[in-house]
Amino acid sequence: MKKNILFVILGAMIALLVAVFINLNSNTVDNKKALNVNLSNWKYYLVNENNPITSEITFKKASIAGTGGSTIKVDSRIKKPLQNLLNAASKAGYKVSLISGYQSLASQDATYNQALQKASLKEAVTDLAGMQKIIEKVRKEIINPGANEYPTGLAVDMATVAALDKYPNLSTKIADTKSQQWLIKNAPNYGFIVRQKNQPWHFRYVGINSARYITNNDLTLEEYIGRVQQEEKKK
Ligand SMILES: [Zn+2]
Repeated sequence: MKKNILFVILGAMIALLVAVFINLNSNTVDNKKALNVNLSNWKYYLVNENNPITSEITFKKASIAGTGGSTIKVDSRIKKPLQNLLNAASKAGYKVSLISGYQSLASQDATYNQALQKASLKEAVTDLAGMQKIIEKVRKEIINPGANEYPTGLAVDMATVAALDKYPNLSTKIADTKSQQWLIKNAPNYGFIVRQKNQPWHFRYVGINSARYITNNDLTLEEYIGRVQQEEKKK
């Protein structure tokens, strides 16, 4: 009888150790959990041309300093994960510059309107068709301000100091540098994804499990949200 109890206790201890070990070593992703998220959660705030922001979003902001000597503002809820990512980068030997974070919708509207005004003056636009052409051109160069996710405080432009030394103008080539590759590869373990392949410096917070799922399956945020919606329909 006593022997049996001992075995049960021993078995439980081994199971616990294995569980802890797996947890510590996991870059694993819970696929089921990733597809069963509540899309109305702040982490999944979708901003794009079809889903532009129409008014300022309110949330608690926090300042965070990069290891490359710059400071930005972000949604306070992503400060810790971002800090953890920067710490891990430091440990790996990489300094990271935070280029931009939260920007108000108003400030983006201003930039956009200035560009629009400048372009229309330059081209001496006199009719509506001409104006539409200018709007298209400026939109391509400066994304439609409402379709930009900076006002969410969940997007961060960041690059390693080494990558920026090589490519100061933020070309897609920064993704070829060893240091930026480290950042791209490790970001999902802290909840961040590269939002668009052609902007390997623009990271967006979505939470660890979702970030790993999106990265493992090579999805865009839009495709991921589509999959979650499909799962919702099955219920
Ligand atoms: Zn960006």
